[in-house]
Amino acid sequence: MNAVKTGSHAASTLEKTPVGDLVDGKGHSSGAEWLTRYSTSLMGVFGTPQRVLVRGAGCLVWDADGKEYLDLLGGIAVNALGHAHPFVTSVISSQLATLGHVSNFFTSPTQIALAEKLLALTHAPAGSKVFFTNSGTEANEAAFKLARRNGASPDGTTGKRTKIIALEGAFHGRTMGALALTAKEAYRAPFEPLPGGVVHIPFGDVAALEAAIDETVAAVFLEPIQGEAGVRPLPPGYLKAAREATTKAGALLILDEVQTGIGRTGKWLATEDAGIVPDAVTLAKGLGGGFPIGALLTFGERTSSLLSAGQHGTTFGGNPVATAAALATLHAIESQRVLENVAVVGDYLRTGLAAVDGVTEVRGEGLLIGFDLDADVAPAVVTAGLDAGFIVNSPGPRTIRLAPPLVLTKDQAGTFLAALPAILQTAKDAQ
Ligand SMILES: *Cc1c(COP(=O)(O)O)cnc(C)c1O
Repeated sequence: MNAVKTGSHAASTLEKTPVGDLVDGKGHSSGAEWLTRYSTSLMGVFGTPQRVLVRGAGCLVWDADGKEYLDLLGGIAVNALGHAHPFVTSVISSQLATLGHVSNFFTSPTQIALAEKLLALTHAPAGSKVFFTNSGTEANEAAFKLARRNGASPDGTTGKRTKIIALEGAFHGRTMGALALTAKEAYRAPFEPLPGGVVHIPFGDVAALEAAIDETVAAVFLEPIQGEAGVRPLPPGYLKAAREATTKAGALLILDEVQTGIGRTGKWLATEDAGIVPDAVTLAKGLGGGFPIGALLTFGERTSSLLSAGQHGTTFGGNPVATAAALATLHAIESQRVLENVAVVGDYLRTGLAAVDGVTEVRGEGLLIGFDLDADVAPAVVTAGLDAGFIVNSPGPRTIRLAPPLVLTKDQAGTFLAALPAILQTAKDAQ
């Protein structure tokens, strides 16, 4: 049968082509060979990747050289259900085989069902709405534009509030608007001028917040726990104070739950017990269980109508496959009682970490955990961890972050606690 001559057979020939043939074609390469190819073909913004990963299952991943790792970072708080989750995989592939993409000139049942589901899970008041994106930074871009509309006349020429408040240590993403909200000078400086009006105030300081808020402020952006800053939770009472001050001044309170949302802290939203209703929440990371999707949720009628037809958009955002992936992820989290697991395994890890020699502080909630070391060896701990078969992350010179799949078992967590003293020693010896 000649596939080239008979068009109808071309498809079946394609179906038999394994992915491996597409990516390699000349047999399997070693990790070192892949990294050489990487450095000549990929932009250097990420530095040299730590490993070339080829396969995952649950909380485990394997590299190109066949080495196994316990994934305690979960793609940076993304792989909520671990790798290659059978249910999520099957929902994604059946949606893709049914209807993959349609543009936002059209809608689809999965898009609508996911919006309804997110509003229900977050106890959003009547009139609340959802805008879907492909990432966290895009969700925050949408929120930034929402903030620019606060107080403005319909054509935007009058009444605009010009100021936006964010916190020192904040990370909200890397695109220009989200970068303007992000505090880190090294990320910002090379790209100035950034969209104007953003003011960064001291972290967790209620008096500073109250002093900064007036009628020119469009919005306050807050992460309930600053992940990139080393897993730093807002002090108790801060959110309530922020809600009161923003309400009084007519400013929006926008919560960036891109990292903390979707079960990461053992709750759907990290802020669900804070006793406040925000004006908007952004989500992404864990939402699609590894499939790229983000969302801006606007709470209540008034906030939800700030962006009108034509004022924002996206080609890919909220497409049928991404929204099916998120629906599957949320369903699995609910039906497998994953939130209970997050609370139990998170407590177990934090208690265990606090007892390890050389660990000076443990922070975080659920399975978003940061711990400090008694020396500036965190990058060396990441390296020693990999050599010992554990993936962890160092957001600071003496801080380690864990954001494993929410399905991490106590036994798996225990293997890391048992290995950590030797990993710390190796890291210190390497200094
Ligand atoms: C990761 C993150 C972002 C950016 O998300 P991307 O998907 O990388 O664009 C924004 N805010 C917070 C709090 C994050 O952790």
